[in-house]
Amino acid sequence: MRIIVHNAKCQGHARCWAQAPHIFVLDDEGYILPGDIEVPEREQPLASRGARSCPEGALEIDPTPAAPVESGVLQPRDGRV
Ligand code: SF4
Repeated sequence: MRIIVHNAKCQGHARCWAQAPHIFVLDDEGYILPGDIEVPEREQPLASRGARSCPEGALEIDPTPAAPVESGVLQPRDGRV
């Protein structure tokens, strides 16, 4: 899953951070850092709780699993095989 961060909505309540400081990283003024957060499977319950705790709706849960990355395998972009 992924947490989509709408950091323009963040008001610095730090409730997300209180749930999971290793997942929700804040800047020096207490606002969430920009950029989506990829959440490993084992952290998903905690990340969901943290996202739901945001009173501003700044943290959107995208349950779509991240696409697996196969290292060393290059895919042609023009449809050739
Ligand atoms: S709980 Fe919401 S408003 Fe508060 S720091 Fe986290 S993202 Fe920002």
